[in-house]
Amino acid sequence: MRIIFLGPPGAGKGTQAKRLTDKYGIPQLSTGDMLRAAVTAGTDIGKRAKEVMDAGGLVSDDIVNQIVSERIQEADCSKGFILDGYPRTVPQARALAENMKASNLVLDAVIELKVDEEALIRRIENRVAETIAAGGTVRSDDNPESFRKRLTEYREKTAPLSEYYAGEGQLVVLDGMAEMDTVSEEISRVLEKA
Ligand code: ADP
Repeated sequence: MRIIFLGPPGAGKGTQAKRLTDKYGIPQLSTGDMLRAAVTAGTDIGKRAKEVMDAGGLVSDDIVNQIVSERIQEADCSKGFILDGYPRTVPQARALAENMKASNLVLDAVIELKVDEEALIRRIENRVAETIAAGGTVRSDDNPESFRKRLTEYREKTAPLSEYYAGEGQLVVLDGMAEMDTVSEEISRVLEKA
């Protein structure tokens, strides 16, 4: 099973992707998590990505394409994977398609979680409050200014992917405002048909 999740920051992609890893025994590939790991480890990529990530911008297509193309070749991806946060631009989607084609892999589903922006801002505020209450570290891009920039980047660069995948006949749009369990059930229904 090879799945892509689309949706703005805070739409619930990560939560739903994690649930599917248990159900299907395939890994969740979050480019955000991979980039944050690179920043923490202080690798060259991490050093190049940190500033733009903190400001809520997008890391260059070349960097993320490279990371994902290597990652999906690893053994734990042999049965499939769930992409969360990638592709985020049309050129990334094209690069992924070429990459998968070269390895004879096909996408089973592209699922977009639709949510309204007001709700997103509240969700992010809650996520920050919960993290602080649990004694955790708040992500350096979870501040109002960077969050607004992430939403703008989404609207300008990522939202066009809906049309791209709709054109490929692969897009399924679900209501991300529904209860988390309801969204999970809808996703299962989509995947059973895929
Ligand atoms: P969110 O979905 O909450 O915005 P992510 O964890 O998916 O957060 O991503 C955090 C940041 O990592 C993004 O704002 C961006 O800077 C960078 N990033 C993640 N995935 C990509 C990608 N596919 N292309 C470019 N930048 C990315």
